[in-house]
Order: sequence, then C-alpha cells, then structure tokens
Amino acid sequence: MTGNGNFYLTTAIPYVNAEPHLGHALELVQADVLARHRRLRGQPVRFLTGTDDNALKNVTAAHAAGAPVGEFVARNAARFYGLREPLALSFDDFIRTSADPRHRPGVARLWRQCADRGDFYQRHYSGLYCGGCEQFYLPEELPGGLCPEHHVAPEPVTEQNWFFRLSRYTGELLDALGSGRVRIEPDTRRNEVLAFVRAGLHDISVSRPATRARGWGIPVPGDPGQIIYVWWDALANYITALGYGGADEQPYRDWWVNSGERVQVIGKGVTRFHAVHWLALLLAAGQPLPTTIYVHEYLSVNGAKLSKSAGNAISPYELAARFGTDAIRWWLLREVARLGDTDFTVERLVNRANSDLANGLGNLQHRTLTLAHRCHHGQAAPPGGQGAPGTELVTACQALPHRIDQALARFDFRAATDAIWSVVQAGNRLAETERPWELARRAEHGDRGATSRLDEVLGALTGACRVLATELGPFLPTGAAALSSQLHGSHGAIAPPVPVFTRRRQ
Ligand SMILES: [Zn+2]
Repeated sequence: MTGNGNFYLTTAIPYVNAEPHLGHALELVQADVLARHRRLRGQPVRFLTGTDDNALKNVTAAHAAGAPVGEFVARNAARFYGLREPLALSFDDFIRTSADPRHRPGVARLWRQCADRGDFYQRHYSGLYCGGCEQFYLPEELPGGLCPEHHVAPEPVTEQNWFFRLSRYTGELLDALGSGRVRIEPDTRRNEVLAFVRAGLHDISVSRPATRARGWGIPVPGDPGQIIYVWWDALANYITALGYGGADEQPYRDWWVNSGERVQVIGKGVTRFHAVHWLALLLAAGQPLPTTIYVHEYLSVNGAKLSKSAGNAISPYELAARFGTDAIRWWLLREVARLGDTDFTVERLVNRANSDLANGLGNLQHRTLTLAHRCHHGQAAPPGGQGAPGTELVTACQALPHRIDQALARFDFRAATDAIWSVVQAGNRLAETERPWELARRAEHGDRGATSRLDEVLGALTGACRVLATELGPFLPTGAAALSSQLHGSHGAIAPPVPVFTRRRQ
C-alpha cells in the first residue's frame, strides 16, 4: 500500500425509482463492515454512499406514480438514507446526484477534461436500449433478444448523441487490470472483465437528447440540447462527493489522489460500468484509478430474482422491525456466498439468528457473565498458564483479529464470520467440558483446587467475551456494544447478564 494510509470506500448509488430492497441492504452492510473494521484497526476511513437521482427510469416511475419528479426522487432517496438506523450503517457521507451542490461542477469538469483530450464526437446512433439498465445493448449481448438483467426486449432508439472514445483506452485498461494496479475481487470477475476488454471495446454513447430525458439530468456543457448519460454522471459521484471540480478540492486530494486505498463495492450487474467505463473516464481525465473493485453477488427471495416487478422485494425496514438489526446483518454476512447467488427466506434468517446469536453467542455471554458476577464480583480472573484448561480458547482469541483481517482483505465475509464463530464454539466447548458452574459450587464450599481451576476457566471465558465484543463490532455493532457495556459493567463490577440476542420467531 502506498499513499497517506487513508481508506476511502464507496458503494454503488442505486436508482431511486422504488424503495430499497434486501439487495441494497447487502451491499450497504458489506461496505459498512469494511469501514468499521478499518476504523477499529485505527485507519482513517471515509465511507460514501448515496442515490442515483438522474436516471430516466426515475422519471418514468414518477410519472407512473403521478408525482413531480423532484419530489418523487427526494422521497425515495430519503428511504435509502433512512436505512442508516435499521441497518446500523456508519457512512460518513451521502450524495444525491440531483440535489447535492457538489455534484454538477465535478461532472462538468470531468466532461471538459475528456473533451479537451478529444475523447468526444457526435454521431447518429441507432441501438437497442434497455430502460431498466439505462444502457444500449448489442444484439449479441441479448440472449433470446432479451436484456440479460431484466428479461425484456430493449426498445430500438435512433438519435444524435455524444460518443466517448472508449476504444482508445483498451491498452491502458488491460495494463491497469492485468498488472493488478486495479484489483478486481473475486478473480472470476476480474477474468470476465479482462476477457471483455480483450475482445475489443466499442465507443459508447454518453448523452441523450434533452427531449427523451424529459429535461431531467445534467446538461452537456456547451450543448444544452443534450443531457449527460446518467451512468456517466452517476459514476462521477465517487469523486464529486470529495469536492472534485469544486471550490475546495482538499478532500479529493486527501481521500482519492493521495489515499492509500480507494475501494469500491458494487453488484455484479454493474461490473462493466465500473471496471471499464469508469476507469476509462478517469484515465481520460488524467485522474488516479480506484485501487480495488469488489463485486458481490445477488440475492434471490424464495428462489425468485429480487426485484420490484417480481413482487418479491423484501423491505429491510420491515425485516429490521421484525427481527432486529443484528439478525439481518448476521444473515447477510454469514450466509451470502462470495460466488453464486444466495436465496433468502425468513426461515433461514430466523434459524441463523437463533442458532448462532441467541444460542451460541447468547449462551456464552450468559454463562460467563453470570459466573463472573457470582464468583468474582465482576472482576475477571487472570488467564491461566501453559496447559491450563482455557489454553485452546486463549490461543483462538489471540488469532482472531488476524484471521478477520485476512478474510476481509479478500472480501470474504463468510470466512470472517466463521473465524468469529469458531471462538464462540471454543468458548462454549470449554464451558461444557469444565462445567465452571460446578467448580463454582465446590469453590463456595472451600475446595481450593476448584477455586483455582474456576479462575482459569473464567479468565479464559471472560477474555473471549471481551475479544468478541471488540471483534464483533464491525459485524454486529448493536449487539457488540451491548455486550461490551455489560462486560465493562459499572464501577468495574459486572452485573447479572441481560440477554443481548433473544430468540426470534418466524
Ligand atoms: Zn435491462
């Protein structure tokens, strides 16, 4: 890693044609874990999310709802911002591309930089346009003539547009991606992008007639009859939010130009926009590239694709109200596969929360705190020496931070939560083997051997709970905070435990 050691993190900005669904929650929670984990390790972090307000599909949805576009977009954008509380998100910044005063000057500057390089030209264009994707497709990209994302036939569109010379950047892109200067995770996605670029890039249309955009969006600098293509405008948010092209570019220098890491979390459906178009745009403007693009998979619900049109959009608000923030976050982090889609059902969410949180972690917390309260008035016993009953647990605790670091460096959230889970299991195993509640009874009757063994076991269990309270913080901020405050007690004494994770019912 080079640069100033800062960690800049973004999510994609979703369209606001509808309310957020569980797929959005997945991306936000994954990014949130990365942000919190780096903060926990002492790194300066800036975490950005926001909404893509300028899409034509937002306009269409507003018309269908009979609402003025600005009002409609603001209402849905607020629902995305509002996920902060039910999902316990810690983003530092939230940008709305239609309303944020930082956005337009940066977009205009990027446009002019590309124009100065001679990267734009005007062309009459006929193509197949999917309104759902907001993109043109080539016939060979449409299996059965249908959009691969939306499974509808794109509409033929003919118009005069500005084109960006994407083809010019083929070599530079291959170099950036092939050399690992821009890392794409997982490898499968990197290989797909490389194959796509190697096959040869076509120039892309980057504007729309203002009439087709119904006047919504950002006008092309110097050509107000054209609106900047929504993707081109949206991608710019990652740097306009840092003041790029504005009066104060210091945040842009601190968090992008000189930042040690610039990590972008996206879903697999928008890989090409980020790993090809966005990189080319930055190259054209002479700006640094992101260091890493992490691509997550999709969720399905009861076996069906997650979408509003499919009628199965699951509201993160509703789930959080019913099952709690920790249960949702834990399911997303522990069950969603790194490769291949994962099916969500309420049953799976509840089973996972009950088995891991209420039973596994809840038991460990309850046993440890009950005994710490009863036997030591809340004071933790010192850890035992070599060969002591808690050695295995102590070793697992010491290894935990590093195991989490390694897993998250690969964006492997399952491996990270597995590592946490192995400590929980080791703790419960120790309690079941040593039965410290029996040791406590014997100790209370004056058995000295039992007293010292109890000290060792309880020392290891308390230590494990402390490590878990810290290391769980990025994953389950709410539960970890509750656990932590009980462990630290008031005036150094541990009170009888209050359950942090309760059993859930479907
Ligand atoms: Zn589509």
